[in-house]
Amino acid sequence: MSCIFHLNNLVFGYTSTPVLRNISTEITAGEFVALVGPNGAGKSTLLKVLAGLVRGYSGSVEFSGKSLSRWNSRELARRIAFVPQETHMVFPFTAGEIVMMGRLPHRAGAVFDNPRDAEWAGEAMALTDTAALASKVFNHLSGGERQRVVLASALAQDPQVLLLDEPTVYLDLKHQMQFYDIVERLNAERGMTIISVTHDVNLAARYARRMMAMRAGSFIADGPPGEVLTPQHLYDIFEITAAVFQRPDGRGSYIIPTA
Ligand code: ADP
Repeated sequence: MSCIFHLNNLVFGYTSTPVLRNISTEITAGEFVALVGPNGAGKSTLLKVLAGLVRGYSGSVEFSGKSLSRWNSRELARRIAFVPQETHMVFPFTAGEIVMMGRLPHRAGAVFDNPRDAEWAGEAMALTDTAALASKVFNHLSGGERQRVVLASALAQDPQVLLLDEPTVYLDLKHQMQFYDIVERLNAERGMTIISVTHDVNLAARYARRMMAMRAGSFIADGPPGEVLTPQHLYDIFEITAAVFQRPDGRGSYIIPTA
């Protein structure tokens, strides 16, 4: 498997105070990575750097062997999709229209949808179980439905990489798992690289194969969730005392904070 992101001594701050401090790491194509850590650790900022949404950093960030700053934004948008925590639309677009917008980076100046775009959008909606929502106004959907539509729009882009910024933070437990079940299938069946920021370490441990824990702009642990989720790491990362257990279904570990 090839290296899809290569970060070397990445330093970035919105002001003179660095938010990302000397980050060096590699992410391989096809990985499922969870980025965890307390509020303000720099997780969302790192995701934005990877998405090409933040410039002005020092050090280097390469995507597919080429410096991110040398990618043109349309080419990047075809390869990297970004799903935020929540999406609001100012205009009353339907869910189907939002999914079709995911095809925009693939249109070479054409204004009208072509049948291939509709095919991709249809497939993305089938995968995310959103076809029945196509004619509904996006803003009228429930939080879980909206996130599935936004995921469908991201998939219609046909990306190599899916960046997720706490995509299930406002969803109930069933819809959290439903969302990550879809993402897990995309990773397993299509080899899509997944990098997801989440506060929920138990959800992260259930789905991700690699957990990267950040604190104050640096990684303080990086490895399979079973290795990262130790009482000592949990204290170092979140300043909590926690007990770590094995899941009864054999899918890694889960934690219970005790203090
Ligand atoms: P996390 O995702 O881990 O909660 P963020 O990357 O959102 O952390 O934020 C890291 C730090 O950067 C925080 O101190 C936050 O206040 C600051 N920050 C985030 N976005 C901006 C911004 N647009 N302008 C200035 N500071 C910001």
